[in-house]
Amino acid sequence: MKSVSLYDTTLRDGTQGEGFQLSMLDKLRIAQRLDAFGVDYIEGGWPGSNPKDIEFFQEAAKLDLKHARLAAFGSTRRANVAVEDDGQVKLLLEANTPVVTIFGKSWELQVTEVLRTTVEENQAMIRDTCRHLKEHGREVVYDAEHFFDGFKDSPEHALATLQAAADGGADCVVLCDTNGGTLPSEVMQICMQVKERIPDTPFGIHTHNDCELGVANAIAAVKAGGAQIQGTINGYGERTGNCNLTSVIPILQLKMGIEVVPNLEGLQSLSHFVDDISNNPHFARAPFVGRTAFAHKGGMHVNAVQKLARSYEHIEPGKVGNSQQILVSELSGQSNILIKAEQLGVPLEKGSDEAKAILARVKELENEGYSFEAAGGSLELLILRQLERYEKPFELKEFHTSYRLYRDGHQPVCEATVKIFVGDEAEYIVDEGHGVVNALDRALRKALIRFYPEIEEVSLLDYKVRIVDGHDATAAKTRVLVVSGDGESSWGTVGVSENVIEASWIAIVDGIDLFLQRKRRAGQA
Ligand SMILES: [Zn+2]
Repeated sequence: MKSVSLYDTTLRDGTQGEGFQLSMLDKLRIAQRLDAFGVDYIEGGWPGSNPKDIEFFQEAAKLDLKHARLAAFGSTRRANVAVEDDGQVKLLLEANTPVVTIFGKSWELQVTEVLRTTVEENQAMIRDTCRHLKEHGREVVYDAEHFFDGFKDSPEHALATLQAAADGGADCVVLCDTNGGTLPSEVMQICMQVKERIPDTPFGIHTHNDCELGVANAIAAVKAGGAQIQGTINGYGERTGNCNLTSVIPILQLKMGIEVVPNLEGLQSLSHFVDDISNNPHFARAPFVGRTAFAHKGGMHVNAVQKLARSYEHIEPGKVGNSQQILVSELSGQSNILIKAEQLGVPLEKGSDEAKAILARVKELENEGYSFEAAGGSLELLILRQLERYEKPFELKEFHTSYRLYRDGHQPVCEATVKIFVGDEAEYIVDEGHGVVNALDRALRKALIRFYPEIEEVSLLDYKVRIVDGHDATAAKTRVLVVSGDGESSWGTVGVSENVIEASWIAIVDGIDLFLQRKRRAGQA
């Protein structure tokens, strides 16, 4: 049993943040990554708030998570309604998750002014809902909204609401700093009083970053005996964001000796993955995982760091999957590639010439603007190509796209022509599509189908574009991330170019190429 569990709400509270939108496929991919990383709870959404969240839980049930427990989020029953008859509570049960998290009111002012009900009815709402969910076999997390503000206003009232949740059988009561205005010293003091009053029910913490204290407040709660931390990857969330798990996790594990995940080295990769999936730029100065978190500039520091890394670094960067910036150690960054190669069945030795060559190629491409965090498919191809385990399925001779706008009210048409060679045989195909990329994708498939009928199984599931600044600041580049799938699995590929069409082409071709390589390799095995 862990002494502190991690409860991720990137998919629910995180999506309240501006500029952080996730499709269903994005959410499923993030859930899988969180599970693989060792997060204990994944809050997937609020089934009562929109039908997309209901659909998410239907799809997430098929994910086969190895460790994490899925949580559906919602509210206590409404006032003066029997819990059995509350439609929103019904939806929570229909989500069919092992965990249900409900929030309720802790602040007397909110009870009388917003809910417009009595203190007694509010407590009954909390107690009944917890009990009802427990009776249906759920693990129940009770989120006490505005707990700290409510406590400061009336400690007795706030504690009584927690007592109601405990009486209803809640497995954990979570103290929420909903407005993000509480200080760590207050959090610690109040948490200790909670522990004294309700010693038999574990408590957790849910903080927001409005005073830039989201992480500090979560740590203060753990110091006071807190057993669960709720937060989001990279701190995404409403206003200034939620408690940043990407910082809390290494603090717990490296500074406080509290083990929360089996392998911290995947942290930076997870952080970049969520940025890439949500189409947000990486925050270079992010503690632990940022590009400059361990970058050294200025003669004296560099010199000292080279002699003794500890002199200007608070942790060893590799422990969170990051690396020092000036000393590009020959072995740094290799672990991801070694893991990938192992999965491909072509194990590489750490420090070998092959591993070094692959790493050098990855770094070169990263300098050009590539990012492989959400494009494992392209990384797989890169490794196969470097190891000469790769057979080129086709050669592009040329492609051409055009956009036709009619004057007579017709819908505009995009057209693509693709000329390829498979061996000595040429194929020259034209097709139309809704946009340039769609037309190119269709023409390429049509050209290939005669040679590789199996590509019928592959489809394009997602397409994302962002502008990146390569190291050469004079030319902005476009990075395209594509997700392809064959109904059984899905894989991400990436293309970078100054031209969006070429970047798209590279990513699309990699998506199909990878599928063909995998088929070929499976056939050989
Ligand atoms: Zn929140």
